[in-house]
Amino acid sequence: MAYDFDLFVIGAGSGGVRAARFAAGFGAKVAVAESRYLGGTCVNVGCVPKKLLVYGAHVADELEQAAGFGWTLEEGHFDWGTLIANKNREIERLNGIYRNLLVNSGVTLLQGHARITGANEVEVDGQRYSAEHILIATGGWPQVPDIPGKELAITSNEAFYLKDLPRRVLVVGGGYIAVEFAGIFQGLGADTTLLYRGDLFLRGFDGSVRTHLKEELEKRGLNLQFNADIQRIDKLDDGSLKATLKDGRELLADCVFYATGRRPMLDNLGLENTGVELDARGFIRVDEQYQTTAPSILAIGDVIGRVQLTPVALAEGMAVARRLFKPEQYRPVDYQNIPTAVFSQPPIGTVGLTEEQALEAGHKVQIFESRFRAMKLTLTDIQEKTLMKLVVDAETDKVLGCHMVGPDAGEIIQGLGIALKAGATKQQFDETIGVHPTAAEEFVTMRTVTR
Ligand code: FAD
Ligand code: NDP
Repeated sequence: MAYDFDLFVIGAGSGGVRAARFAAGFGAKVAVAESRYLGGTCVNVGCVPKKLLVYGAHVADELEQAAGFGWTLEEGHFDWGTLIANKNREIERLNGIYRNLLVNSGVTLLQGHARITGANEVEVDGQRYSAEHILIATGGWPQVPDIPGKELAITSNEAFYLKDLPRRVLVVGGGYIAVEFAGIFQGLGADTTLLYRGDLFLRGFDGSVRTHLKEELEKRGLNLQFNADIQRIDKLDDGSLKATLKDGRELLADCVFYATGRRPMLDNLGLENTGVELDARGFIRVDEQYQTTAPSILAIGDVIGRVQLTPVALAEGMAVARRLFKPEQYRPVDYQNIPTAVFSQPPIGTVGLTEEQALEAGHKVQIFESRFRAMKLTLTDIQEKTLMKLVVDAETDKVLGCHMVGPDAGEIIQGLGIALKAGATKQQFDETIGVHPTAAEEFVTMRTVTR
């Protein structure tokens, strides 16, 4: 049977665009439907605008440090409206680049909501298209617990478009987004409190990293409240918000920001017309090759809930394009040793096993840990400490994990990701000549076993 398209991609985000472009490049006839914004979450309400706001907040650090280097500055003033307008302009530029990328690679771009109407059929704005393969790359959406007053709270989606910087912010959650936005709001001058329901935020990260970041955030004056959760939110007559905690305490704020995880975006997608099944967490169930339980339908990225990171969605998109249209180049995605950064202030960079994971996996481990005050701070009064940590297998000498909290952690950890992928040993780390004077050289000069 002749189909309108070889591949119909739903969602022009990180994974969808990558799959569509490469499939078209391999000679396939490809369509992409996008209902909201080109580039998806990462470009519009994720990685990119977030990092721009993090840069904006980080300027406050530079200004604070300036006096130590002899600079006298006039009283600084921050204007949220300017930052947001400049950010919006940059996002529009990127939207245009994504459009050109798709169109120039021969992909048919359909702007509108896509709904699957059959195993090989998708409807966009009343128009039906047939396709041999359908790829679901619809991403995720913020999830807010169902509490009274939840409609008074915002999520990352709205935070990027706030008219003004709120004076007092309550950030709820203890994952990437909560920690990053707490740093943004506080860095830009808002009185910020982070509420997390457990004992210590960033569950799943290395224990030393979690504790170190907690101490550094407290030094910066961020109000951290652990074992704290909101029961209800009410709006007061003066327009401010009152959050009543489960322990009965009441906190006042101008903005309550929820970052309590993301659900798969399946709204009105028409899955009931297919044999696509969901897993126990509600994400689309796929096999190792991103095949759903319906033979003609594949899924990648946040909607499969495996690792919710842009470079992972890109790798999955690439894998699907190759598997379908260039099988001789197909390589499975390697989910081991994915380097990642949390753009908190200071940021976290991490790759490989945490100390806890290594022990749980039965490794006999040697831990190398170093805490030091970065050289840049020696001319200032700032007492921030950088943490670097290596988790090493005591029997094979292989480095199992590298963890860092400190300036440029994300930049530094990328290279270490290559070392771990190559299976580097601690001896090879030791034999690598350092770059002096940098913070990064500490990773090749840690000689004493901490425990
Ligand atoms: P998305 O990029 O979400 O794309 C899905 C697209 O599908 C969207 O454009 C959506 O509009 C469209 N769509 C949905 N349903 C339909 C439909 N029925 N019809 C048509 N179109 C539809 N990751 C990092 O690696 N680094 C970071 O620093 C980082 N920061 C982040 C910060 C925030 C605040 C958030 C929310 C996420 C961040 N992420 C980060 C995660 C990253 O954004 C996601 O992992 C990535 O965007 C997932 O890509 P995707 O292709 O699966 O989905
Ligand atoms: P995460 O899954 O990272 O964190 C969710 C947090 O919310 C956890 O601390 C969780 O607590 C808490 N939580 C969940 N449900 C509730 C609830 N009902 N009440 C109170 N707290 C709750 O989600 P995020 O929203 O922060 O981010 C989504 C994903 O996006 C990330 O996992 C990451 O993959 C990606 N991302 C990546 C970034 C980067 O690469 N720098 C930046 C931002 C996002 P508990 O631990 O107790 O379950």
